[in-house]
Amino acid sequence: MQGPGLEWRRRCRLRWRHMSDLQRRRFTSNTRLGPLLRLARHWLSPADTAVLDELCASWRAGKDRSTALHLKQRGNDSFKARDYLQALSLYTKGLRYVPADSPECALLYANRSAALYQLHRYQDCVEDIERAERLGYPPELQHKTQSRRAACLQRLGGSGGESRESEPPSAASPAPGVGVGEGAGSVRGMREVCVGTALYCWASLLNHSCQPNTTASFQGTRITLRATQPIPAGEQVLHCYGPHWSRQCVGDRRKSLQTQYYFWCECSACVREGGDRSPAPQAQFLCRPCGSVLSLEEGGYRCVHCTQLVPQQSLQQQLQQLRLQMEGAGNMDSTHTDTALAQLQQCQADAQSLLPAQHPLHGEIDDSLARVYATHGDWGAAAQHLQRSLHAVELQYGAGSVELAQQLLKLAQVLFNSRSVCEAESVIDRAVPLLTTHYGADHDTVAELKEMRSCLQSLPGRR
Ligand SMILES: [Zn+2]
Ligand SMILES: [Zn+2]
Repeated sequence: MQGPGLEWRRRCRLRWRHMSDLQRRRFTSNTRLGPLLRLARHWLSPADTAVLDELCASWRAGKDRSTALHLKQRGNDSFKARDYLQALSLYTKGLRYVPADSPECALLYANRSAALYQLHRYQDCVEDIERAERLGYPPELQHKTQSRRAACLQRLGGSGGESRESEPPSAASPAPGVGVGEGAGSVRGMREVCVGTALYCWASLLNHSCQPNTTASFQGTRITLRATQPIPAGEQVLHCYGPHWSRQCVGDRRKSLQTQYYFWCECSACVREGGDRSPAPQAQFLCRPCGSVLSLEEGGYRCVHCTQLVPQQSLQQQLQQLRLQMEGAGNMDSTHTDTALAQLQQCQADAQSLLPAQHPLHGEIDDSLARVYATHGDWGAAAQHLQRSLHAVELQYGAGSVELAQQLLKLAQVLFNSRSVCEAESVIDRAVPLLTTHYGADHDTVAELKEMRSCLQSLPGRR
């Protein structure tokens, strides 16, 4: 289909021909986009705008409910077949065939939000849900969109700003002193999602390090930078542009910094790891027959004991499969607790024979298990698995990391719910300073933990 672009270009050519030499020179000598656009806007006459409006109006797709219905049905089929990208495209097409602001529109937006959710596009998903509800999405169906919205907001972490270091979601644990309500205090999943970008003039002056000595957090549009360790006078204040030593190997970090920021990273972490030839734990695998760590060489991974060579691709596929199974089980709702538990336990067994003990996936599986147990109300088992994942998180991200802080917060919530007073207190004591370092003393999470502590201290039967 050919859009109105061609017609508009003809119109522009006509305008160009009628310009003076001086005007043309002003236009062509401008190499910066901003001033160029301002100039073009200045020259755009009401007659041009009218032409543009007319062109766009004549290119609107004709409204046809039966086509829309057909597209929606095909979208649903793709959704069932888990082809979410195709479903998204079909629902979007369907929207073109129904009048804007119609009830059919509401249904299509609601369906599209489900596809967006599966594609992890949580912000877009929330926007579609809002559109659907504004257009009169049936109230008897709204429980579905509402729980989807809640899941999105949870994943988006409720923070604004450029959010690589996402803020933890605000209070979701039961209010201390109040009975535990249904679903309250469950262990929540957290994922870092980029929800927006902003320009921070002074913060952008900071140099990068893959192992920085500061941490950034966002409150609305305000950025706060805090030191994570004492910085001696005269030493550089360093900030991580994204590639962090705990999340990527040195090769990948340097490559992405080179592509995006045009420099070869020589930070302390890169220099240290650059000379180290052994692969990161994330890139290691075990030999299934004998259990020893495989070593990477040309053509694949080789076991030093059995001398067998395993193709790299096959190991990567097994890992990918494991990850998918884990995520699938982790996303099952509370009506499928038993299935989720069985699947996660299988993942755990598979992971043990495929990956070395220090591989971060073990911790992620424990984290998922904890979440399922918590949904089930089995706080003891949830705490046990969180303890194990805590260890993995500390190993991977470091003792001063924001990831560890968030994991401690979760553990504190679970221990609080199980009224394990002493353990909860000691975890709170670890979590508070760490969260304060990353988010500041007046942050919601810090207040929540302090409230938990005072609640625990006032429990009857205590000393
Ligand atoms: Zn570096
Ligand atoms: Zn072997």
